Amino acid sequence: MAVTLQTKYPISPITNNIPRTHRPSLLRLRVTCSVTTTTKSQPNREKLVVVINPTLSNDPTLQSTWTHRLWVSAGCTTVFASFAKSIIGGFGSHLWFEPALAGFAGYILADLGSGVYHWAVDNYGEESMPLVGTQIKDSQDHHKWPWTITRRQFANNLHFLARGITLAVLPLDLAFSDHVVHGFVSTFAFCVLFCPQFHAWAHGTKSKLPPLVVALQDVGLLVSRTQHVNHHRLMYNTNYCVVSGAWNKVLDESKFFEALEMMVYFKLGVRPRSWSDPNSQWIEETNISNNNQT
Ligand SMILES: [Zn+2]
Ligand SMILES: [Zn+2]
Repeated sequence: MAVTLQTKYPISPITNNIPRTHRPSLLRLRVTCSVTTTTKSQPNREKLVVVINPTLSNDPTLQSTWTHRLWVSAGCTTVFASFAKSIIGGFGSHLWFEPALAGFAGYILADLGSGVYHWAVDNYGEESMPLVGTQIKDSQDHHKWPWTITRRQFANNLHFLARGITLAVLPLDLAFSDHVVHGFVSTFAFCVLFCPQFHAWAHGTKSKLPPLVVALQDVGLLVSRTQHVNHHRLMYNTNYCVVSGAWNKVLDESKFFEALEMMVYFKLGVRPRSWSDPNSQWIEETNISNNNQT
């Protein structure tokens, strides 16, 4: 009996387009083979479906290491020390309004900062750049495969910003005792440190998220899923803020980032990636199964 196997699409060109670091987590390919037998007068075509679905939990690039955990612990410790200084100062002075207002300002400005930083790494720079090169590469990969952020373990997702927070807040903890200053610093640093987690929750499935997270998203204290999904559409040059998302509407309606891009272009001659054509490799790949995305 002669059996001819055909795959409609070759597998290797698909997998070769996926960075090595992402292949294990994304390799969910539906392979359809046409089987033709010649023992009968009429060819008998059957569909054979093979699903390759390795466990995502085995992908080392998405898992936390002890180094990641140590940096996140250090970041949390410095933020907590700053917060404690603010609370202790409030008890000592009986002045609560000023540190509370400073904390609110920290929360609001952290959202704005997350948007500006997100816009910058989305649009400018290269993987080879020192310090931020990894963030730029991660940003581009996130736009190609947004759903992987929900598979990233907690410390793996937070460790990069935790390093920055540790190095920035530790000197402030040691140098300042003003509880109003620490009201601002602790809230701002907390939101920056945890904004990758807020971002991951914005990609989560509502039924799988903790009810408190869903409630905070629904009232606008954390960036909402519906707001962030607009950032990942083809014309994605909107909704960059990923703490509360409170700034997104005003920044988008005022065309703040478009104005910044024009300034950068006319001053430096550098085009942002958001001006790329829709067929750019920067755009999300939709041929690969993304059942986990919401
Ligand atoms: Zn982005
Ligand atoms: Zn995203």
